[in-house]
Amino acid sequence: MEQPVQALRGVGAQRAAQLAKLGIHTVQDLLLHYPRGYVDLSHPYEIHAAPLDRPCAVKAQVAKKLGETRVRGGMKLYKAVVEDASGSMELTFFNNPYALEKLDYDIPYLFYGRVEGNLLRRSMSAPVVYPARPDRPFSPIYRLTAGLSAQMLSNLVDQALRCAPALPEVLPQPVRERFGLWELNQAIRAIHHPASDQEVQQARRRLIFEELFTLAVGLGMLKSRARASAAAAMEPHSLQPFYDALPFAPTQAQRRAIQELTEDMCRPTPANRLVQGDVGSGKTLVAAAGAWFAWRSGAQSALMAPTELLAQQHYGTLQALLGGLGMRVALLTGSSTPAQKRQLREALAAGEIDLCIGTHALLTKGVAFRSLGLVITDEQHRFGVNQRAQLQQKGACAHTLVMSATPIPRTLALMVYGELDLSVIDQMPPGRRPVKTYKISSPKRERAFGFIREHLDRGLQAYIVCPLVEGAQEAGLHAAADYVEELSRKYFAGYRLGLLHGRMKAAEKERVMAAFKQGEVQLLVSTTVVEVGVDVPNAVIMLIEDAERFGLSQLHQLRGRVGRGREQSYCILVSDNRSPDTIDRLQMLCRSNSGFEIAEYDLKTRGPGNFLGQEQHGLPRMRIADLSTDLREVEEAQLAAQQLLREDPQVTAPEHAPLRQAVERLIQAVGERPN
Ligand code: ADP
Ligand code: MG
Repeated sequence: MEQPVQALRGVGAQRAAQLAKLGIHTVQDLLLHYPRGYVDLSHPYEIHAAPLDRPCAVKAQVAKKLGETRVRGGMKLYKAVVEDASGSMELTFFNNPYALEKLDYDIPYLFYGRVEGNLLRRSMSAPVVYPARPDRPFSPIYRLTAGLSAQMLSNLVDQALRCAPALPEVLPQPVRERFGLWELNQAIRAIHHPASDQEVQQARRRLIFEELFTLAVGLGMLKSRARASAAAAMEPHSLQPFYDALPFAPTQAQRRAIQELTEDMCRPTPANRLVQGDVGSGKTLVAAAGAWFAWRSGAQSALMAPTELLAQQHYGTLQALLGGLGMRVALLTGSSTPAQKRQLREALAAGEIDLCIGTHALLTKGVAFRSLGLVITDEQHRFGVNQRAQLQQKGACAHTLVMSATPIPRTLALMVYGELDLSVIDQMPPGRRPVKTYKISSPKRERAFGFIREHLDRGLQAYIVCPLVEGAQEAGLHAAADYVEELSRKYFAGYRLGLLHGRMKAAEKERVMAAFKQGEVQLLVSTTVVEVGVDVPNAVIMLIEDAERFGLSQLHQLRGRVGRGREQSYCILVSDNRSPDTIDRLQMLCRSNSGFEIAEYDLKTRGPGNFLGQEQHGLPRMRIADLSTDLREVEEAQLAAQQLLREDPQVTAPEHAPLRQAVERLIQAVGERPN
């Protein structure tokens, strides 16, 4: 099984190179190259009963061959008419006279392809022809690459299937029995050549389960390994002085998260905690408490944010709070000058800075800490596991805190954050009123502007968000740069407007944000750079142009910029899109203020590819499992993994050897982690 593909008949250097492009290097890899679908020949249709919207097999006989026609571009078409009791259909083959010659009159064939036309006239272009009684009712469809035909790949897989004595069984027998799962080799055979739809389902379930189970076991092992490694246990301190310095009383949920974090930090194993809370729930406070607590034990902290804007804002907030308590807080971003960076690096290495806030710039090689005790990542879904790990490596055995507003369904959280402990902030600071959300179309825009003016007149502030920066008129989009000009001329003459977009220099952004914070700018027109983290409680209206262009979770994040104070806040979604899906999506947002509900809806309707990009959750690519649709398997696999790890924590039992190997391959794929 571990032999290179060249061991198979018909595979030379060239073919091996083509296979390598598909990630197939060994005979085993061929078996694990699962079909992405099947040509279903098991239930052929009559011509007039065939569906028009998807490929299918139609059983018919040849009635007439129409010969060759030439079209522009030198292409030759070969047409034939086929018929059955229900009617007739025209076939077209392109540049392929033999396809037509090979067909006999008076005996039925299966023609596989997409039927087009209407009830009266039907046709099929470039059908694949099968005998009326095919050897196999389901013919696998594989992902291919240039130069490698479906036939060739199919033959190679079949060769591999024939020579396979047996792949080592990864799932322990008790697990298979408990969850009614097929044995591996049976599943592999069936996934390539199923005899029925049920067999496809059974085989898929088994393989999906295995993939998720291996992942869950791997993450579980990492977690217990992290627990086993040493960290600087901090001394227990009362948090009272910190709480006393706050301008408000922390919520119960914040206190609990802070308690959980600081208790972790007093243990001699590294804390590894995720704080999850909806936008506006006050996660920054947990970070502040953690940094303060580390400082009391003589350790430094680092806080990494995904955007410069957010890093700057954190710097402002935390400098004010923690600076007042005697901590030395610094900011490091990509746009710090070389001289600033050098000075900062020296100060960090000398231990003259207690909390360093920054962007990815914190990850650069030259940045070293004297005694890094706590590593914090804000909006963690924006970073991969590897980036988090890179930062953590800067502290010998630092404690880790990650924060995220992207709420993901519990089952998914188990997988994605399987190796983290979870604190949930399920409570908003007091006095908040839910944001009222409305969807409007262009004709109502002027009224919405009037509504915004009324609020500005009362000393409040607002945002208008547009999808792009400039020059998108062709697409009918509102480009922020042109748009702000029009607004200040027409609808907001006499008001103080500001413009913020991603291509501005950091210093400029900072200036505009500061002006908005201080109320000098009343209406901020922006691209999505304000999406994460920005906190200006006096802003109460968020108007989003071309709202259909954004994902739901992104809209929820944008909406989270308002509703941060005691005033009633509003979110206005402007969209002229008439597609029923879009309307449903936007109405969902009008109905719900819960990030959790929205994420679940988003996940169901868009799939995890969009919802959680590979780089966002930092998990290895799944071969067959889908973390959004396979929730039952996610749950079961997690359960089975926990039980196994209780009995065999480091997976060393001899009967678990194949599992252990699979897990090790997987952990390598996730990348080295610090602990
Ligand atoms: P997020 O969870 O989105 O990161 P922030 O930490 O930015 O939220 O907090 C949102 C706003 O709520 C900030 O203006 C913050 O000062 C304020 N805030 C946080 N905790 C409390 C509290 N317990 N009482 C009142 N206001 C709070
Ligand atoms: Mg935040």
